[in-house]
Amino acid sequence: MTQFIPAFIVHGGAWDIPDAEIPSHLNGCRIAAEIGWSILQRGGSALDAVETAIRSLEDDPAFDAGQGAWLNSAGEVELDAIIMDGVTLNNGAVAAVQHVRNPISVARLVMERTAHSLLTGLGAEHFAQAQGIPLCDESELLTGQELERWKAIKAQKDFKVEVAFGGPPHGTVGAVARDVHGHIAAGTSTGGTPNKLQGRVGDSPLIGCGCYADNLSAGASATGWGESIMKVVLCKAACDYIALGQSAQAAAEKAIGVLADRAQGLGGLIVIDRSGQIGVAFNTPRMARAWIEDGQVSAAVERQP
Ligand code: ASP
Repeated sequence: MTQFIPAFIVHGGAWDIPDAEIPSHLNGCRIAAEIGWSILQRGGSALDAVETAIRSLEDDPAFDAGQGAWLNSAGEVELDAIIMDGVTLNNGAVAAVQHVRNPISVARLVMERTAHSLLTGLGAEHFAQAQGIPLCDESELLTGQELERWKAIKAQKDFKVEVAFGGPPHGTVGAVARDVHGHIAAGTSTGGTPNKLQGRVGDSPLIGCGCYADNLSAGASATGWGESIMKVVLCKAACDYIALGQSAQAAAEKAIGVLADRAQGLGGLIVIDRSGQIGVAFNTPRMARAWIEDGQVSAAVERQP
């Protein structure tokens, strides 16, 4: 059987990452990339690499996912996540869950053990429990910083989320993998945008918007201002450009160009195409990411020359 060279990339959000937070973002992305890569090197599946790497990013309070997630306007945690299998196009997602440490794992169970694609809120939490995933207290997801940040937002008179992508902290996480069988998978996990309305669901858990994977084209994971990403179905758009013959890098850049031009959106995108080529594009000041090149982990937040 043909063995393919695996490929792997993760991201930790696209926004104006302050200098003081660069080390924690690079470090968290690097660790997640190493975790995913070690799975792929052992011949593990793209799905396992994506899920396990995202769990590590969810557990890292530097990022807006799992622990450390942004709070909604009522001061509550509401988490969204999705995972997609490029072999079958099967996908699973959860939205607005409040008591789950690793939403990406519940999303995978939705994909593998239900006839559905997306479960929300209480229903998703009941499902998680029924699958043996213990629920946690919301306080376990709060690292201390989110409450302070939430109070600071509340103190602002006219907080605008589109301004937030050039300002206060963000850090949705995502991963894309191609394994030794040439199978592609992608996933995304987030706490959403700061001060979102209760019950707001963004792009992240929506197929084609925050994530897409198809062995025939590519896998992609997005981050940024969700309402604009949804307008252009960002990840599916990037995969379609690849299906039409563009390189992974050109497709990522084109998709971000459409996000900016058609939706005045801000965000970033990671892509791996069916030949294992990696693409990254963003129109925010910085984007945290780590990937494997010649068997070594590289990480960056700035634009590459
Ligand atoms: N896309 C996420 C959302 O709108 C936020 C982010 O990526 O920072 O929920």
